[in-house]
Amino acid sequence: MSISRRDTLQFGSLILLLAGTDIAWGATILGVRVWPAQDYTRVTIESDGLLKAKQSFITSPPRLAIDIEGIELSPQLKELVGSVKSDDPFISGIRVGQNAPGVVRLVIDLKQSALPQVFNLPPIAAYQHRLVFDLYPTQAIDPLQALIAEKEREKAKAATPSPRDPTAPRAVDPLGDLIAQQSNRSTAPTTPSTTKTVAPRADSMPANPDNSSKNPVRSSTDRLIIIALDPGHGGEDPGAIGPAGTREKDITLKVALKLRERINASTIKGNPMRAFLTRDGDFFVPLHVRVQKAQRVQADLFISIHADAFTVPTARGASVFALSQRGASSATARYMAQKENSADAVGGISVQTKDAQVQRALLDMSTTAQINDSLELGSKVLGEIGSFAKLHKPRVEQAGFAVLKAPDIPSVLIETAFISNPEEEQKLRDEAYQDQLADSILRGLLRYFAKNPPLARTRTRS
Ligand SMILES: [Zn+2]
Repeated sequence: MSISRRDTLQFGSLILLLAGTDIAWGATILGVRVWPAQDYTRVTIESDGLLKAKQSFITSPPRLAIDIEGIELSPQLKELVGSVKSDDPFISGIRVGQNAPGVVRLVIDLKQSALPQVFNLPPIAAYQHRLVFDLYPTQAIDPLQALIAEKEREKAKAATPSPRDPTAPRAVDPLGDLIAQQSNRSTAPTTPSTTKTVAPRADSMPANPDNSSKNPVRSSTDRLIIIALDPGHGGEDPGAIGPAGTREKDITLKVALKLRERINASTIKGNPMRAFLTRDGDFFVPLHVRVQKAQRVQADLFISIHADAFTVPTARGASVFALSQRGASSATARYMAQKENSADAVGGISVQTKDAQVQRALLDMSTTAQINDSLELGSKVLGEIGSFAKLHKPRVEQAGFAVLKAPDIPSVLIETAFISNPEEEQKLRDEAYQDQLADSILRGLLRYFAKNPPLARTRTRS
């Protein structure tokens, strides 16, 4: 470019005025965001007009080149270059340049080969038009393997040599062995089963020579109890925002992390417990993917954590929800379900993920048994939360929450408090209050298990 950036900025307003009338390429960039995560890294460009993009993937070295029509190089776009974090699993750097008048070329340099998905999202909630680049690993992350990897990282932290080193002597790890055993008997993530009986899966995990043959016969319930924790929202979807600016997605993650610590340190009748988080960072996970992940790890329970918002600031108190097969139990419950179910539209769901319609239909096979178990779990949790917090409703409410639809896993959604209520927003920000919430949820699920001991997973007959 022959003119300096300073000149560009000076002429900026003039260009925009012209653009407002009949020049198609005059879209203004409103924001650029990068959401790095192991599951996938997302880059979002938000603008006041629809942006058209043409992308090509170059394999060596791996990079994604994208020509975006309808924009000029702007300071916001240049910000993108600096917004890539060094620990981003996929992106090593981003370069931007004016390729032609009205065409900006973006080159995303990658650390590994990736499956890119590029798509537009229409204006919704606080957002205007969004152009999204999602970079997925070429081999999808298996939640079960992620759970094992997490355990291995903990072991590696505690001792050297690393357990990932194949030449290292293999330490005896009952928890790791239990996970491996369960993984050998687990179902595919996309196949909801209506019972706890599961089929063997040859491709699920590498065989574990250490325990496959000389494995002692374990008692029927001698197994790992897995609790799926689902911190609501994340990434592009902040969830509700409190009057002081607190974002629901941050609170839900904090409470879930605290609960994870407590669960991982607990046992049920001698059986170790393990929490599995549907997201452990600030990125968006589509609702049905949260359910699939829980099914893949064969979670015994699914607990989704949220914080309400309502139009009036006086609304207050915690609530617990279960799924409903018929309508919602109240107008408020229906409103909450609609609001939480809109997360996919705000968070941004890719074209490929949309063919999850079939999956969603499958998920509608929720059983009465699942709902009854969920109601019981919910009432235990609600009772415990009620021991220190105000409750919005004294009973577990029901509505069609998409995230509660695993047919075989008792599932509840906890609205911890109203983030829209200034007083409750302050409580939610308070570490000690978050601790109390995590403590009470743990007590609730332990009380549920005391009455409903975890079922033995039926052993595979061969
Ligand atoms: Zn929410």
